[in-house]
Amino acid sequence: MAVRVLVTNDDGVHSPGLRALVEALAVGSEPYVVAPEHQRSATGHAITLHKPLRAFPVVIPHAVSAWAANGTPADCVALGVLDLLGFRPDVVVSGINAGANLGRDITYSGTVSGAMEGAIFGIPALAVSVDAFENARYDVAAAFASMLVRLIAERGLPPDALLNVNVPNLPREAIRGVTITRLGRGRYLSKLEKRIDPRGQAYYWRTGQPSAEEEDPGSDSYAVRHGYISVTPVQMDMTHEALLTALRTWEIRLESSSHHG
Ligand code: MN
Repeated sequence: MAVRVLVTNDDGVHSPGLRALVEALAVGSEPYVVAPEHQRSATGHAITLHKPLRAFPVVIPHAVSAWAANGTPADCVALGVLDLLGFRPDVVVSGINAGANLGRDITYSGTVSGAMEGAIFGIPALAVSVDAFENARYDVAAAFASMLVRLIAERGLPPDALLNVNVPNLPREAIRGVTITRLGRGRYLSKLEKRIDPRGQAYYWRTGQPSAEEEDPGSDSYAVRHGYISVTPVQMDMTHEALLTALRTWEIRLESSSHHG
């Protein structure tokens, strides 16, 4: 039976990255789309609790069926899994995002959060991004994601796990290969630009550059900067294991230990 894939994204249901992904997926699997009706980038793992969620059918070429929703990427995955699809998808894919999602920036990412929501539902999930905000090319990323979806459907992923894929914005012949990576330490939006409005009040824009040098050659950003597709296994359990062990030796109590005795 064909692999049934729930596709979401954060750039909006009509973004070219999603369309390229759906077209590539349709070759070997059945893509179903539930995606935000408009741009929801950098919404992280937000969900909608204080207003009604609505979804309406849209036509996306090569999709078996498609809906646009007024929610976040995480909402869209929940809508798809819990109601719209009427079945449990084999794989959840989020993307293809315009702009890399690397290192610590993944916690801001609506794209990665869509895949995280899939992982929370216990469905193997994948986030796919291209390293360009403008003039992004989706051909290599779409073909790679389609191949990886079939591999994931065949092999499965551990519960609580997802794959975060970043693809250099290069033609196929310029991409040097695929690297299995860890999340790097870089972050992108690390600066504030402060301006003064016409009424004399300060306002701010968050800006930044991809952080200069990633030292760790095992990291996602190092791989992408050097022309490789990075595939990073991510887990939802963010517990710091070493600190967990260390914290137990602190003997933290409800009452301060310095006051007893
Ligand atoms: Mn985006």
